[in-house]
Amino acid sequence: MLFTEMQEQVRDMARGFADEVIRPMAEALDRDERFPAELYQDMAKLGLFGIGVPESLGGPGFDTLTYAVVMEELSRGYASVADQCGLVELISTLLVRHGTAAQQKLLAPILAMQAKVAYCITEPEAGTDVSGIRTTAERDGTGWRLNGGKIWIHNAPVADLGFVLARTDKEAGNRGMSIFIVDLHAKGVERGPKEHKMGQRASQVGALTFTDVRLGPDAMLGEAGRGFHMMMSVLDKGRVGIASLAVGIAQAGLEAAVEYAGTRKQFGKAVAEFQGVQWLLADMAKDIEAARLLVQSAASKIDRGQDATKACSIAKCFAGDMAVARTADAVQVFGGSGYIRGFEVERLYRDAKITQIYEGTNQIQRMIIARELLKKGARA
Ligand SMILES: Cc1cc2nc3c(=O)[nH]c(=O)nc-3n(C[C@H](O)[C@H](O)[C@H](O)COP(=O)(O)OP(=O)(O)OC[C@H]3O[C@@H](n4cnc5c(N)ncnc54)[C@H](O)[C@@H]3O)c2cc1C
Repeated sequence: MLFTEMQEQVRDMARGFADEVIRPMAEALDRDERFPAELYQDMAKLGLFGIGVPESLGGPGFDTLTYAVVMEELSRGYASVADQCGLVELISTLLVRHGTAAQQKLLAPILAMQAKVAYCITEPEAGTDVSGIRTTAERDGTGWRLNGGKIWIHNAPVADLGFVLARTDKEAGNRGMSIFIVDLHAKGVERGPKEHKMGQRASQVGALTFTDVRLGPDAMLGEAGRGFHMMMSVLDKGRVGIASLAVGIAQAGLEAAVEYAGTRKQFGKAVAEFQGVQWLLADMAKDIEAARLLVQSAASKIDRGQDATKACSIAKCFAGDMAVARTADAVQVFGGSGYIRGFEVERLYRDAKITQIYEGTNQIQRMIIARELLKKGARA
């Protein structure tokens, strides 16, 4: 992929920051399951949040390809950190596209990480099938009253603002949902305990319960009844983000495996000299490169205003599956050490798994790919 000078500069800045600051912290953050607030303040100062927000609204106004490249580099450092960047990108894309001028004033504190955000769709009975959500927002004077609950929400234990999908019309199916911007410190909001996860353990995930939470007349984002469509419309970009994150995890695994194979000696020579190990490394490198190109091609389609849905699902599905398989190879190159806590590849393998699950599971990506093929033809 050919990059502009600006894209290379941004990539190099993100790469340097990941190498010097993020990667050295990653093991401790994973072990302690700690939200690195101070790190996010530093990243905000470097302009690493809200990469696609236009300059007129206080962001750097970079394209999706630049976003993909930054996500990969941050994830090479530590996937939880990239995930925070991806979350802010999703929310700020919603605000840029659908927010009123007053709501867009929230972009400044969000990009500065003064206001931490949460993207709240999933409920106990509504995971893949978002149409099953039961959270409701009912008219209450000029405003709304919110009742219900969400689970497995990234940032829920620490967030200040929730972007909450709720039913505003019980009879209208997917056209009866709307998005509300909810102050998570308001009366009636309760947070569940932090979940203890397999990987990406610095990302704080938990439940939110809403009991008669009063929302003002300006709390709704965009039009009533368009919430489902709006949430789904940012998912192409979201999938590019998660696919890039998966590539970054696998790339970190490859780097660690190459280094280890060159230094670990058995039978009197470095294990890198054995063809069995070389082929593992070669397979890792070729699949990572293939995934990277798929991601960057999907990002470029979004930037050119082309229909990118199939490309984004292919990239997300391939990159997620690839990251799980190839970080397993990285563990293999390390032998027993790869299975021991404290070795980077052990964490990378755990961090990779969720990329097959969130932002639409990889079964759902396959459904989308097949649907697009059958609707538009195999060459579209
Ligand atoms: C760490 C983490 C962070 C998360 N962050 C957020 C967040 O910030 N905000 C948010 O709203 N949600 C979040 N989620 C929730 C996540 O989006 C859901 O877990 C995901 O959408 C899958 O839903 P589910 O877990 O209920 O699985 P289910 O929908 O119950 O699926 C179970 C299995 O069935 C398969 N399946 C379901 N339907 C079909 C079908 N039609 N065809 C084929 N297979 C199917 C699935 O692929 C899966 O393998 C997070 C989850 C985790 C674990």
